[in-house]
Amino acid sequence: MQAAGPVLKEDYQIRVKELQEIVGEGWVITEKERMLDYLADETATEVRPQPAVETVLVKPASSEEVSRILKLANHEGIPVFPRGGGTGLCGGAIPTENGIILSLERMNKIEVDQDNLMAIAEAGVTLKDLAQKVEQEGLFFPPRPGDESSQVGGLVACNAGGSRAVKYGVIRSYVKGIDAVMATGELLRLGGKLLKNNTGYDLMHLIIGSEGTLAVITRVILRLFPQLGASATMIIPYDNRHDAINTVPKILQSGVIPLAIEYMDRGPIELSAEHLNMEWPCKTGAAFLIIIVEGKGEEEVYADCEKISEICERYNGLEPVVGKTRKEQERVLKIRGNMYLALKHKIADTLDAAVSPANMGTFMDAIDKIAARFGTSIPMYGHAGDGNLHPHLMKDLVEKGAENLKEVKREVYREALRLGGVMTAEHGLGRIRLPDLDIFLGQKEMELIGGIKKVFDPKGILNPGCAIRE
Ligand SMILES: Cc1cc2nc3c(=O)[nH]c(=O)nc-3n(C[C@H](O)[C@H](O)[C@H](O)COP(=O)(O)OP(=O)(O)OC[C@H]3O[C@@H](n4cnc5c(N)ncnc54)[C@H](O)[C@@H]3O)c2cc1C
Repeated sequence: MQAAGPVLKEDYQIRVKELQEIVGEGWVITEKERMLDYLADETATEVRPQPAVETVLVKPASSEEVSRILKLANHEGIPVFPRGGGTGLCGGAIPTENGIILSLERMNKIEVDQDNLMAIAEAGVTLKDLAQKVEQEGLFFPPRPGDESSQVGGLVACNAGGSRAVKYGVIRSYVKGIDAVMATGELLRLGGKLLKNNTGYDLMHLIIGSEGTLAVITRVILRLFPQLGASATMIIPYDNRHDAINTVPKILQSGVIPLAIEYMDRGPIELSAEHLNMEWPCKTGAAFLIIIVEGKGEEEVYADCEKISEICERYNGLEPVVGKTRKEQERVLKIRGNMYLALKHKIADTLDAAVSPANMGTFMDAIDKIAARFGTSIPMYGHAGDGNLHPHLMKDLVEKGAENLKEVKREVYREALRLGGVMTAEHGLGRIRLPDLDIFLGQKEMELIGGIKKVFDPKGILNPGCAIRE
């Protein structure tokens, strides 16, 4: 693919003027110190790409403004880096070439359509605001990826997952309509407040998960559900990881489908509790499942909890701790949600592989063996109900030689492949996963992806260097 040309120093000011005419002077930022937060994301520093030097931060207020910016950028061959909350974990939003950082944060309106059970959210709405608004309206938006400052545009562009995908699926399952702007500035309105739509190729689903490389998402229609009647959060301790992981398929086979089944080792969860000045409520166990159960009423929830407890006990689970009140449940989930931040300073890379849920134990054993071979430890946690694991490669690996990190990663990926798995389940490829993509995608698939990119973005201005291996 042809790389877009850089923003030339000599015409930099001219472009800034044109951008100011589109969005207003105050919404074009050129001073480095005011854009530092936009030059990085949450990717571990060891593998995070370096940002380019000459970037302009632009904050449009409407699809029309986005369209005018893209028309200009496309005409001049200026790279554009769409940006949401900057919570991505694979460098997808980092502007690695001179160009425009396009932040959608000002586009933050939300409406709720009670009749159709849908939310209409602009791309810059944060997950926190979306969840709050929907709750105020007495409704429920199930997905809950771990960082609430992520934005609707970023969540859809990454097809984010999170812990609650077991029962209701990932973000893709909720998106019913998308407004997006193509690289040429043309506006697309795809889907709508519809539960069924078979009108030709599904361009909307092509844009979901395209990581800002096919179009800029400006507005999304999301499916909602009635609020939960009751819920409970159980922590089941185990003496060893094997028993914990092997229980997961048994729970799923029982007919009870929890909202979430999360796995974690004791080490990382205790670190997270400590980081928050809190206490992890389980004194026993080396490994844990956190299971969230929801239902129409308390009786249904407790019956499901009973059933799950019996299964866990049969597979060597220890005495469960059950949080029933909202406060108790929130405490547990807060500790779970803080794990990445607590560990971050020690992490060289966080992987996001997935295998089928029944293969997760085998996958973890293989990762332990890789860790032993390289004389390191690989703490793991993840969305066990989805077979989605986050092995954390620690900085000591790099200290023993930069090559080690790459080799361990490739070995983990080869194991995932051997078990029929994938390298990323929810974070996406971004920039940092591309060097290993050859393990999973063949030449033909890469060609097809390259061809699709060319149709949407012939000059390659949208998020160059992300998600597509050239
Ligand atoms: C503590 C923590 C926990 C997390 N937990 C989870 C989890 O459980 N599940 C999960 O899936 N992820 C998780 N993540 C990762 C992250 O929150 C998601 O990938 C999220 O979808 C990123 O959204 P964002 O708005 O921050 O996007 P950004 O990081 O800003 O951007 C991500 C990608 O989306 C593109 N993009 C952003 N906005 C648009 C737009 N409007 N149009 C087109 N492209 C756009 C960017 O170009 C980039 O490629 C976690 C991250 C952290 C830090």
